[in-house]
Amino acid sequence: MNGQETGALEVFLGLGSNQGDRLAHLRAAVAVLAKHPRLSVTACSRIWETEHVGPDEQDPFLNACVAVATDLAPLDLLDALKAMESAAGRLPGGHRRPRPIDLDILLYGDQVIREDRLVVPHPEWRERAFVLAPLAEIAGGRTCPDSGETIADVCAKIRRKEGPWVRLYDGGDLQGQDPGREQGGQGCFPGAISSSKA
Ligand code: ADP
Ligand code: MG
Repeated sequence: MNGQETGALEVFLGLGSNQGDRLAHLRAAVAVLAKHPRLSVTACSRIWETEHVGPDEQDPFLNACVAVATDLAPLDLLDALKAMESAAGRLPGGHRRPRPIDLDILLYGDQVIREDRLVVPHPEWRERAFVLAPLAEIAGGRTCPDSGETIADVCAKIRRKEGPWVRLYDGGDLQGQDPGREQGGQGCFPGAISSSKA
């Protein structure tokens, strides 16, 4: 769809993968989003690599964010994302389990949504550098609709905290650029949230 169409809102999605060919899963998800008749992808962050957080041992994640324009209602968008996760081989009930792809709605326009199945802004992203680092690259100046802070401010706060390592991934980008080349442009936090465990 054309992002300028009446009724389309700007929505920010979080993408994550820690199973199989993680980069391929992220790129495939962007391609599937771009093909959806009621979505257009308008911006992509760089890809960040993150240590898994949780009681069990899991492989590191690759995380990124994309901006999309869509006229899908929030719950319809959630259903579309869940269908994309299933089509990519994600098993149901996999909360906190290894997954080929995780697609979360971080921001839906300026809306605050509190439904059983959907909480937006996403309930946990304030504490997650792996969400904030890529999100700040494409939405740093945006205001969180529930708190009034900018995404860049929230990201700066979390940078001062101890946490798992998060670093820029140098194996390629969302758009299919080869490894070894600089991931395009300077983000808001180019490598500032970095690994002490390279
Ligand atoms: P997680 O992303 O936390 O690892 P899942 O992807 O398994 O967990 O999602 C668990 C449930 O979280 C979903 O079935 C969905 O209904 C719910 N959910 C609530 N808010 C959101 C959101 N903003 N984006 C995506 N899922 C959400
Ligand atoms: Mg999810």
